Amino acid sequence: MSKVYDVIILGAGPAGLAAGLYAGRSRLDTLIIEKGQDGGQIAITNEIENYPGQVLEGESGPTLIARMTEQAKKFGVERVRDSIKSVELEGPVKKLVGAKGEEYLAKAVIIATGAFPRPIGCENEGKYVGKGISFCATCDAAFFEDFEVYVVGGGDAAVEEAMYLTKFARKVTVIHRRDELRAAKSIQEKAFKNPKLFFMWDTVVEKVDGDEILSTMVVKNVKTGELTTINADEEDGMFGLFGFIGLLPNTALFEGMLDMDRGYIKTDADMHTNIEGVYAAGDVRVKSLRQVVTAAADGAIAAMQVEHYISNLK
Ligand code: NAP
Repeated sequence: MSKVYDVIILGAGPAGLAAGLYAGRSRLDTLIIEKGQDGGQIAITNEIENYPGQVLEGESGPTLIARMTEQAKKFGVERVRDSIKSVELEGPVKKLVGAKGEEYLAKAVIIATGAFPRPIGCENEGKYVGKGISFCATCDAAFFEDFEVYVVGGGDAAVEEAMYLTKFARKVTVIHRRDELRAAKSIQEKAFKNPKLFFMWDTVVEKVDGDEILSTMVVKNVKTGELTTINADEEDGMFGLFGFIGLLPNTALFEGMLDMDRGYIKTDADMHTNIEGVYAAGDVRVKSLRQVVTAAADGAIAAMQVEHYISNLK
């Protein structure tokens, strides 16, 4: 018979790790299950400027998350690396089944599975992911040292990551579907001052192509309908294309079980879902602000709610 944990936390981003810290400190028997590396979105973010109290020069997502991981460990939280393939959430004991059939049981579950980058949505995209197309500047910027790079999107992520890419690329052009950025004004101000950063307004990417590696793309002006082909500089033979056009929630596993809105899990202010003993925290839930600070706060609230739930069971 498998061990029954007090709580299983699914996902080790800021929400999951904060939940782990609070659950561990509350002496709950806690297991965090993560399928990849810790950190979620933040693991692929370069600069963190707006986490309260966090003033370390040059702080990046990976350095912040490494400290969160250590902190959760300190309070005795168990860790497993597995990719959960099915869940049974109803009833007093919840069951999660891993990739190799391993069963994990718990009285409560906190879903902190986060979100993943939305594909650019152009023709041939799949063929060039990892061969010129990327969704992670932290991971791939160095491959484009002295090359030209294009960034699709107009939000905080697109503009911040485009600025980071200017440290490597010869020239970075942001391709945005409107003529105004969605990014915070403070971020825009910095971006407009960056001499290596250019903007292509009212434009979307229609198609990408090349031989082995991305070297040409067709973009469309959405106002005039005009199509333009952009080719890599002959000497370069390639360019980079980074997509930062928002996120899609990791919730396929819970479809038909949990109440959702456009794929995001609905919760109340205390992170309860529609199933007793099941909570959601961080980017995966319906909310208005997806930030490290709000994810961590969700995780803390969810863990404390689990603590109340478990003590009422006894
Ligand atoms: P976002 O804020 O949702 O912005 C997505 C951008 O992509 C928008 O400019 C949008 O255009 C564009 N877009 C969406 N679908 C598109 C499509 N199919 N084709 C072309 N363009 C498309 O997403 P994000 O920038 O990834 O940020 C996600 C969340 O993380 C946000 O809550 C953001 O505030 C947060 N974040 C915060 C920071 C920070 O505080 N420093 C940094 C990174 C991310 P429109 O503007 O026309 O809608």
